[in-house]
Amino acid sequence: MAKITLDNLAHSYLPAPAGEEDWALKELNHVWGDGEAYALLGASGCGKSTLLNIISGLLRPSRGRILFNDIDVTDQPTAARNIAQVFQFPVVYDTMTVRENLAFPLRNRGAEAGYIATRVQAIAEMIGMEAELDRKARGLTADAKQKISLGRGMVREDVNALLFDEPLTVIDPHMKWELRTQLKALHHEFGHTMIYVTHDQTEALTFADKVVVMHDGRVVQVGTPQALFERPEHTFVGYFIGSPGMNLLDAEVDGKVARVGGFEVPLGAEYAPPGGRVQIGVRPEFVSLGAEGLPVTVTRVEDVGRHRIARLDFEGTALNALLPEGAPLPAGDVRARFAPEAINVYSDDWRVAPGSRSEEAA
Ligand code: ADP
Ligand code: MG
Repeated sequence: MAKITLDNLAHSYLPAPAGEEDWALKELNHVWGDGEAYALLGASGCGKSTLLNIISGLLRPSRGRILFNDIDVTDQPTAARNIAQVFQFPVVYDTMTVRENLAFPLRNRGAEAGYIATRVQAIAEMIGMEAELDRKARGLTADAKQKISLGRGMVREDVNALLFDEPLTVIDPHMKWELRTQLKALHHEFGHTMIYVTHDQTEALTFADKVVVMHDGRVVQVGTPQALFERPEHTFVGYFIGSPGMNLLDAEVDGKVARVGGFEVPLGAEYAPPGGRVQIGVRPEFVSLGAEGLPVTVTRVEDVGRHRIARLDFEGTALNALLPEGAPLPAGDVRARFAPEAINVYSDDWRVAPGSRSEEAA
C-alpha cells in the first residue's frame, strides 16, 4: 500500500502544447493518502482516465513527478509499480476458465497453490461467480466478463493501490450496487489505497469518504460528500453535485448583503469578493417559497419521490426550490427566500471565503 504524491503534474497529448486548452491535465499537486478510498468524479473528457493512467504508468506525464511513499516512480514501468487497474471494458483471457483468469495475477507473482485456491474462492464469492469457476471465459456475457476483470483487480492483497476506471459501466444496475458494496467491503478488509473513477455523482458519493472533483483538466475540489454539498469550492461542483444542482445568480456583494437585480438578499456572513464576475449560490434545499425574498414566477412543479421541485423564474434566470412533502404552494405573488447561512459567494467561479478581503488570484 502506498501514499501517492502528484508533484507539479501536468499532461498534454500534443508535442508542443501552447495554450491552456492544449493541456488535458492542468498543473496538479495532490496527495492520495495511504489506505484511503477516493472517488474521482467529473464529466466525460475532463481528464480522469489521463490521470489514472499516469498513476499506473500507462502514460508518462509531460511534466512533474509521481511518488509512491516518497519514492519517485515517474520513470518506472507499470509492472514495477505494483498496481491493479480495472478498466471500463472487460480484459479477460477467453481461452482460460474463470478460475484461471482470477488466479492469473497470483500465479504471475509465484504465489503458493493453496493460497491461490483460497483467494480465488473468496473473490469468486465477492463477484458472485462461484458456479461458473470452471467455465471458459469465452461465451460469457460482457457483464460476467467485467466481473472477472473486477475480480482479477481485487485478487492480490499486496498491491500499492487499486485503480478503477468506470468499472461498472457495462454492469446491470442491480449488480452495480452489489459490486460497489463488495468493493467497499474489500477496502475495509485490506485497506488498500483505492481510486474509483466515475462520472456518476451517486456512485462517487456512496463509494468514497473523499471525493476528488475534476473539471476541465483540473481538480476543483477534494472533500467529503458533506463539504461538496455545503461548500462547493467551484460553481461546477455546485451544479454538478446535487439534483437539481445549486442555483447561481449574478450579484453585487458588499458585507452581509447581496444585491440581485433590484433586490437585497441577506447573507450569513460578511464577504468582500476580490472582483471579477460575482455570483451567489444556494442549493434548492435552502430555497423556500413565501411572502419574503425575490419575486419569482413558478413555471412548473415536479414530484420527485419524497420532495417536489418547484421550477422558478426570476427575471429570466431559472431557479429551483425543493419543497417539503405536503407543503402548500403559496398563492398569489410568490417570493423565494434563501437561507442566509446556506448561501455561498463566488468570484469568477471560485468560492470566496467569508471574512476579510481575500487575495486577488494571480
Ligand atoms: P475522461 O476519462 O475524464 O473522460 P480523458 O482523460 O479520457 O477524460 O480525456 C481528457 C482529454 O484528453 C479529452 O479532451 C480527450 O479527448 C483527450 N485525450 C484522451 N486520450 C487521448 C489520446 N490518447 N490522444 C489525444 N487526446 C486524448
Ligand atoms: Mg475515461
